Amino acid sequence: MNTEEVILYPQTEQVMNAFIHQFWEEKQELTQKRVYEEITDTQIEQLKRKGIPQESRPLEEVMGEMTEEIFKYRYNANHPRYLGFVPGPASSLSWLGDVMTSAYNLHAGSWMSCPAASCIEQSLLAWFCRQAGFTGDSKEINPGGIFVSGGSMANMTALIAARNKVLSDDTQHLGTAYVSEQTHSSVAKDLRIIGVTDKRIRKIHTDAHFRMDMRKLQSAIREDIAAGLIPFVVIASAGTTNTGSIDPMEEISALCRKYGIWMHVDGAYGASILLSKKYRHLLKGVEQADSLSWDAHKWLFQTYGCGMTLVKNRNDLFNSFSANPEYLHDLAAEDEHFNAWDMGVELTRPARGLRLWLTLQVLGQNALSDAIEHGIQIAEYAEKELQKTADIEILSPAQLAILTFRFAPSYVSEKEKDELNQKISKKMLENGYAGIFTTQLAGKKVLRICAIHLDTSEDDIQNTVSLLNQFYQELCPGKM
Ligand SMILES: *Cc1c(COP(=O)(O)O)cnc(C)c1O
Repeated sequence: MNTEEVILYPQTEQVMNAFIHQFWEEKQELTQKRVYEEITDTQIEQLKRKGIPQESRPLEEVMGEMTEEIFKYRYNANHPRYLGFVPGPASSLSWLGDVMTSAYNLHAGSWMSCPAASCIEQSLLAWFCRQAGFTGDSKEINPGGIFVSGGSMANMTALIAARNKVLSDDTQHLGTAYVSEQTHSSVAKDLRIIGVTDKRIRKIHTDAHFRMDMRKLQSAIREDIAAGLIPFVVIASAGTTNTGSIDPMEEISALCRKYGIWMHVDGAYGASILLSKKYRHLLKGVEQADSLSWDAHKWLFQTYGCGMTLVKNRNDLFNSFSANPEYLHDLAAEDEHFNAWDMGVELTRPARGLRLWLTLQVLGQNALSDAIEHGIQIAEYAEKELQKTADIEILSPAQLAILTFRFAPSYVSEKEKDELNQKISKKMLENGYAGIFTTQLAGKKVLRICAIHLDTSEDDIQNTVSLLNQFYQELCPGKM
């Protein structure tokens, strides 16, 4: 191979067309496929031994290897019956936008390097701010945000802004942060990264519905103030990952206002419900927050690497992340031509928002609203089907398309129930029909369904429930 061929490899076009064709066929056959393909230890050993060759290899051979030996083995989070964790039901529109964006390989760090793409990203962020109720145009309210890789980065970006807004150089070591028992683990991780150690993170108990307990939050804040500490951020969850529970937004915002605390909402999972006409009211109060995390690679059907930090006042991002602090000045409301690298951690960054823009342009708001609501309906259907099944206990009803339950025959111990449900999940995975995993809830091992895939049908759910029931009958300790 000649070095001149490195950038424009001659066979690329032809091979790419063939790949797209093959990928498309595979996607159409998805529902007949298993949700999980297991790789053997021997195959992993073979992969480790591959190394990097001294001489060139044919492109098609390497691509074939990637398909057959790498991509094939995975939990297929794009599969309509993958109901575990948070699925990644990426739309082919997002995939196409992703391919287009990486084909042009835009440097979207600065306004100047791609003004039109920067303009689109910023208008899109402004649109999402409006959906969250972040509206206004003043020194205090000047909404904006940044596209980041996902919820973890979105939370970290917001938490840095919160810390720098509420605390000073001299008081940083006194700042305390408030999460709940159900807050996503990435929040505590992010807090530790930004220098808030576990000693200054308060994990507030949740009530019977897995929502942050307001009395406990208030007393924790008061105790910290009395001890000379400075409460600087409360993280409310708009859709916990475990149960879809939503913390009491309005009460949290009232407390935050009273004590001068930044209110961050982790909506990585649930903020997408704001785009559903029928259910957006569930997040009432989110408009009071100072910042909001929102993952588009979850319930907005995007390929991975697409999340947002939205803020009520974009100067709070600018003041934390501007690369030129010596020239630091607040952005005026009319100052639209700013650089993404001044609003977040990354300098060189891909234009993550463009695939989402393509998706929204093509689908339109109504179709997207329906697509999101489909998940709610499927989870409610699953709950109804499960309730017809013997010995089922629903731990948390369908909420934001998430449902938790377990098989709980009255004659076995708690420990045996834990094992039983773990085994049912394992059997389902071995069977390959659906992906149903366990989570820990109030000290119990429970099964969980997260049903945000647009192609999940009622038949899929009915068959999944009968399989669960079949595995239960096979395992049922009372019959062994
Ligand atoms: C998924 C999730 C995160 C983390 O997001 P990533 O995109 O995986 O980094 C944070 N918070 C909540 C509530 C989530 O569901």
